[in-house]
Amino acid sequence: MSILKIARMGHPVLRAKARALHPSEIRTPKIQQLIDDMFETMREYQGVGLAAPQVHEALRLFVAGFPPAPRGDDDDFEADEEDEHDGEDDGEDVPLMALINPEVIPSGRETTEDWEGCLSIPDIRGRVQRTRRISVRAYDRTGKKVEFDASGFTARVIQHETDHLDGVLFLDRMKALQSLTFLDEFGRYWSGPSSRAD
Ligand SMILES: [Zn+2]
Repeated sequence: MSILKIARMGHPVLRAKARALHPSEIRTPKIQQLIDDMFETMREYQGVGLAAPQVHEALRLFVAGFPPAPRGDDDDFEADEEDEHDGEDDGEDVPLMALINPEVIPSGRETTEDWEGCLSIPDIRGRVQRTRRISVRAYDRTGKKVEFDASGFTARVIQHETDHLDGVLFLDRMKALQSLTFLDEFGRYWSGPSSRAD
């Protein structure tokens, strides 16, 4: 496995519409290797999600997931999702997933606002509104069709990563830019849940 170079904001690949994979491509060594490398890259940079365009591959594929953070460990990015705000489901850990050709369908109109970051926009955080509950249809890494519901932080990560496949960055989704903050200042003044980067 290898750690891949991450495209930063300004690279055209982040603004392109990525192409769908043919189901027969999913099990090829090239795509399996890419998925393994993307998981390793995401872990290396302590992200909670990583889309193929972020590693210069314009394909409709992303990986995501974050294991339960060990309590009492104050490693910056692994900010635990102890939730002082509303939802029952905002504090969950994101299950590991590799999704291909994902489709996101909002379930209901309820939205929720929280902090987001992005490995392609280093050291910046901002608050973004997202649909709280979604249904997802995709292929998994074995080429099997999957369908599931997600909510809270998992739904947020899936929406953020799926946006990458259409050339959309979280900054485009911000209703206002007043909450934009550098990571140092975030840690000093705003730190709490969700300081992780996707
Ligand atoms: Zn991102």
